[in-house]
Amino acid sequence: MASNTFDYAVVGGGLVGSCIAYGLSKDSQSVAIVDEGDRAFRASRGNFGLVWVQGKGWDYPAYARWTRQAAGLWPSFALELLESTGVDVDLRQTGGLVMSLDDAELEADHRKMEQLSSHTNGEFQYRMLSNSLLKQKIPEISSQVAGAVFCPHDGHVNPLRLFRALHQGMQQNGAEYLPSRHINSIEYCHGEFQIKGDFDEIRASKIVLCAGLQNSKLGEMVGIEIPVVANRGQLLITEKLKHFLDYPTLHVRQTTEGGLQIGDSAEDVGLDDGTTNNVMAMLAARATKMFPVLESIKVIRAWGALRVMTPDGKPVYQASTSCPGAYGVACHSGVTLAAAHAEKISQWILAGEHGDVISNFSSSRFNV
Ligand SMILES: Cc1cc2nc3c(=O)[nH]c(=O)nc-3n(C[C@H](O)[C@H](O)[C@H](O)COP(=O)(O)OP(=O)(O)OC[C@H]3O[C@@H](n4cnc5c(N)ncnc54)[C@H](O)[C@@H]3O)c2cc1C
Repeated sequence: MASNTFDYAVVGGGLVGSCIAYGLSKDSQSVAIVDEGDRAFRASRGNFGLVWVQGKGWDYPAYARWTRQAAGLWPSFALELLESTGVDVDLRQTGGLVMSLDDAELEADHRKMEQLSSHTNGEFQYRMLSNSLLKQKIPEISSQVAGAVFCPHDGHVNPLRLFRALHQGMQQNGAEYLPSRHINSIEYCHGEFQIKGDFDEIRASKIVLCAGLQNSKLGEMVGIEIPVVANRGQLLITEKLKHFLDYPTLHVRQTTEGGLQIGDSAEDVGLDDGTTNNVMAMLAARATKMFPVLESIKVIRAWGALRVMTPDGKPVYQASTSCPGAYGVACHSGVTLAAAHAEKISQWILAGEHGDVISNFSSSRFNV
């Protein structure tokens, strides 16, 4: 076999592609992961690190169940990565909080949680917390917070360490990482994919498109519809503080090292991944309103990053019918779904398993 010919080529080395390549590499010796590199938009390097169940799929039962299943796979996945690579991805599934600053917002969240619980026959668990109950979990909480939803399935992880573990793991398993390769075209010829760009042609029997915001364009080349658009989130990083936050929240989380990540903005600004003063000020104001202790601390870094959003925010897992052996994967919750992608989605690609679950996420749902 020529060195540029593989059984599987995974296009895109973000978290989605890395999880799938890692999963494939456990069963196949011949996996390449082809990535454009630092010039590309990369949601995986700019995210908030939540493994988040609450709220996901309140209006789409299959997604609620898939997210819950994915979060349940996380502990054994983190352990496997630690044992095989020595990298601790710092998973903490303590449960997570979504706080509301007013009663109407809290009530709306409550209704969504009821719906989620009924979708999953009660398997999805949550508790509504008043301000005083919340204070028992986080004494530093402000009296301005109306209350919160606590969900025991939620957690957080260090996404950059996850990246390192996946890349080390897949390469230990024999996968080839091919960075700095921007793919311009993919041709399907006699059952083989020819992957072309400003590099020596790569050939593969199967191809998995995980190119984030570029997936729509690449998908067209192999007959897969993968509609994605960018949605910007901005994040603030503070100096390290004495540990005070035992639970991740949707807006603020404290890393093991002590720094806080402050986030959860959403903007439709095309491919602009910059930062703006007004959004950063809004994030800081909301965080200090929730935690007055933050009023005098320093923000040391900030960035913007582009989410990979499908039209309904749910994942797309789609096989090509015109080019058998081509698959497209896109999602907005690549951290939360990481363990499911490494295990279930790679098994779907390798052996056609889990088709019943996967069929809920076909892009054909956008054409009804
Ligand atoms: C601000 C923000 C906060 C988030 N917070 C969370 C969170 O808390 N929890 C959670 O679960 N998810 C979160 N996400 C979402 C999560 O980060 C994404 O779902 C995930 O990173 C998507 O990974 P990806 O691999 O699909 O895309 P990307 O990370 O964008 O990777 C795509 C890769 O494809 C490569 N590529 C693109 N085009 C080409 C080409 N033509 N040729 C070769 N390579 C190419 C790029 O180089 C890139 O490495 C957040 C996202 C953002 C932006």
